[in-house]
Order: sequence, then C-alpha cells, then structure tokens
Amino acid sequence: MRELVSVIGGGLAGCEAAWQLARRGVRVRLYEMKPVRFSDAHTSEGLAELVCSNSFRSDAESNAIGLLHEEMRRLDSLILGAADASRVPAGKALAVDRVRFSEQVTEAVAGHARIEIVREEVSELPEGLVVLATGPLTSDALAEAIRPLCGDSLYFYDSISPTVYADSLDYDVIFRASRYEDGDGDYLNIPLSREQYYAFVDELVRAEKVPLHRFEKAIYFEACLPIEVMAERGRDTLAFGPMKPVGLRDPRGGQPPFAVVQLRQEDKTGTLYNAVGFQTKLRIGEQRRIFRKLPGMSGAVFARYGSSHRNTFVRSPVLLDAELQHRERPGLYLAGQIAGVEGYVESAALGLLAGIFAAARARGELVTAPPPTTALGALLAHLGRSNPESFQPMNVNYGLFPPMDGQAKRTPKRERNLRMSARALADLTPWVETVGAVLP
Ligand SMILES: Cc1cc2nc3c(=O)[nH]c(=O)nc-3n(C[C@H](O)[C@H](O)[C@H](O)COP(=O)(O)OP(=O)(O)OC[C@H]3O[C@@H](n4cnc5c(N)ncnc54)[C@H](O)[C@@H]3O)c2cc1C
Repeated sequence: MRELVSVIGGGLAGCEAAWQLARRGVRVRLYEMKPVRFSDAHTSEGLAELVCSNSFRSDAESNAIGLLHEEMRRLDSLILGAADASRVPAGKALAVDRVRFSEQVTEAVAGHARIEIVREEVSELPEGLVVLATGPLTSDALAEAIRPLCGDSLYFYDSISPTVYADSLDYDVIFRASRYEDGDGDYLNIPLSREQYYAFVDELVRAEKVPLHRFEKAIYFEACLPIEVMAERGRDTLAFGPMKPVGLRDPRGGQPPFAVVQLRQEDKTGTLYNAVGFQTKLRIGEQRRIFRKLPGMSGAVFARYGSSHRNTFVRSPVLLDAELQHRERPGLYLAGQIAGVEGYVESAALGLLAGIFAAARARGELVTAPPPTTALGALLAHLGRSNPESFQPMNVNYGLFPPMDGQAKRTPKRERNLRMSARALADLTPWVETVGAVLP
C-alpha cells in the first residue's frame, strides 16, 4: 500500500496539496481544526475560506499573478478551477463569490475517494509524510509544537478592509467605472476633491487605533499597509496609492477627482462591496465615523469592519530545501503562507508544488523543481535564495524572474512582461509532462 500523506490545514494551500496528491493516486488525511476551533479571522465551516478580500488579483498575463493563474490552471489546480467557476465581475481581476468558492473546494475535496477529512486541531506533527499548511494563523498549540523544528517564527500584521452594503450608498455621488476602461465598469468609485481628500487624511492620522499587544512587534507587509499607516507616512501617500484617481472618469462628466475610493464587488449578487486597499487597524467606532464622512457614504451600512491579525511564517531560506521540504526532517513539507509567500494565489501555488513533491516521494519517483523562468519556479527560487536576515513574505512579481536574454532596456514594461510570460509558459510545458499523470 502506498504511503498515506497527512495534510494539516484545510485552507488554500492544504486543499490544493491534498488535491494534487490524490490526483496522483496518493491517499490523504486532511486535518482541519474548524469548526472545533476558529482562528481570529476564520468564521465559516467551509474549507478554503477567504478571510479578507474576494480577489485573486489580475488575471492578465502581462502581470505575474495572472501568469501564475495560468500556470496553475495547466496543472489542474483545484483552487484556480473553483475560482474560475465562482467568478464575479471585477474588470481584469479574478474575483470570486467567496461562499460559492469555498463550497466548490469543499465539495471537490470531500467527494474525492482518496481524501479523508478529519475535523480536529492538530497539536503534534503526525508520523510519516506531512504537508504543513496551517497558514498565517496557525493555532498556538501547533505553533508551539513546531517551534523546536522551525526556530523563531517571524510574525507581522496585515489587515482586513471594511465591507459595506451596496444599497446603503448614494449613487448621486458614486459612479461606476473600471480603471482605464470605457463603459459602465465593475467598480464603484467615490470621487474626492482636494479638500475632501486632505480632510479624510487628517481624520485618519488623528483617529484612535487598536493598540498592539506588548509582545507584538509591528512589521507590516509593505503591500498590505493599513491606510492610517500610509496616511501617517505623508499627506499625499494615499493619493498615489489605493486612492489614486488615474484612469477613472466619471461618465457624467465634471471636474476630474483629486482622489478616489474604489469599492469592489464582494458577492455574486452584488449586495456587498469592499473598499479596495483600505486595510485598517482603526477602532470600529472610528471606522464608522470616518468612512461615513466620505462622499456618498453618509448612510453606509457596514457588513464587516476592518481589523488586523497576526501572520506567522518561517525563514524558508534556511529551513527548507528546493522542494519545500524541511532540511532536517525529510518528508515534512511546508506550504502556503507559513512557508513565506504572501497572498491567496501564492499560498495555493505552494500547496500545489508541495502536493506534487510529496506525491513523488510517496510514489518513489523523482521530480525536479519547475524552471526558474516560470512563475512557480520564480516563487520557489525566492524562498530559496533570499537573505534569511531580511526575509519577508512576497507576492509573485516579474522582478523575481531571471531577465530575458538580449532584451533592450528600453523595451516597454508591458511588452517585456508579455515576453517573460510567453517564455514561462513555453518552459512550463515539458515540466508539466514530468510531474506525473493525473488520475480522475
Ligand atoms: C487577516 C488576514 C487577511 C488576509 N487578506 C488577504 C487578502 O485579502 N488577499 C490575499 O491574497 N491574501 C490575504 N491574506 C494572506 C493569505 O493569502 C491568506 O492568509 C491565505 O488564506 C493563506 O493561505 P494558507 O492556505 O496558507 O492558510 P489558510 O487559508 O489560513 O488555511 C490554513 C488552515 O489551517 C487551519 N489550521 C490552523 N491551525 C491548525 C491546526 N493546528 N490543526 C488543524 N488545522 C489548523 C485553519 O483553520 C485554516 O483553515 C490575509 C491573511 C490574513 C491573516
């Protein structure tokens, strides 16, 4: 009988890893602690719960995340398949109805003959082959159990954006448009004049924030800074960041806005919208007071307020080998955010790779890592070669890829990216053929 693999954590990475293992004929026991225990951010019983935004970001291959989507589709990714099947309108982004998405993943995993789901909190690592995918909010008991194996885990904070009911907004003020696109567009946009923008920034800076605990050290992931932290960095920071007005025209005409708050559709029916890039650590009362001062938001009803959570990850460059395996405990694979990437898709991508690597080991086969010219390979290479002292979780981006030969420095960025994307997909094809036939 082929070895059974224990996958710990039924999130994005764990479900993807279980799926890749099972599709290669390997039996899986998938442990998920919900509903016995919930982290501070998880609330539903379903697997692969999206705890914050409902977006998998750009689906365009001129963008490295869009390329990663495509590579995962070519490897029969469960997470990408479920995302495509529960997609909601969001311009060039791949955004999903989070409830349908989680249902699709749960049904696929629960319905697979080679996967057994065990709903319990794991507090000791099981024997044998293990994929550890317990995410940034790994339960305390397990974090303690793996501490001797992982050294000092690092941690920082990232935050949840507020979500409002669409029918509580004022559409005399708010307009619909997608950046750089004509027509109605998928986003709701709140236009601000110069005065309104600076008044908002001043409110953010003065507002009451949720204090950090004494033992907590605030190391924010740069791409996920709370808006009040951005506001404190400079009065114009937000206007060049999440509130930038470029490419957004009010179809009704009038003065171009000085800044814009964008709201993105959250569910299939368009009942809920979340404020894009508005992660925050403001107190709830302050969020209500300050966001309701924005034009068109005076009657806003909040479905969810922003908040902030711990994020646990390990120093992968020293801890893991090129196949996401613990250097000192072969057969223990780390996947998802805990292995040092950032983002839903990147976490699932590491689950996919860990599943493929663990399946090969269970089957007594050899596989190599994907070429570094692919998005999957570039992510792995980032984990392997970063400076351990300054190591931080990273979103996939073209800066992680090896440069193209003979590429003129003057080549426009979009064209350069598209060439890197074409190279990646060409290099991925032979690798896909080596990583095992996929069973039903
Ligand atoms: C608050 C917050 C907001 C975020 N917002 C975004 C965002 O908007 N967009 C984005 O791209 N990324 C976001 N991230 C980052 C990251 O992409 C997500 O956390 C992502 O879900 C990570 O995937 P994962 O599979 O590694 O972990 P998770 O999806 O968190 O899955 C881990 C699973 O393991 C389970 N588990 C934990 N401990 C145990 C245990 N001891 N035994 C059994 N099961 C256990 C958990 O219940 C959970 O289901 C956010 C992270 C946090 C913490």
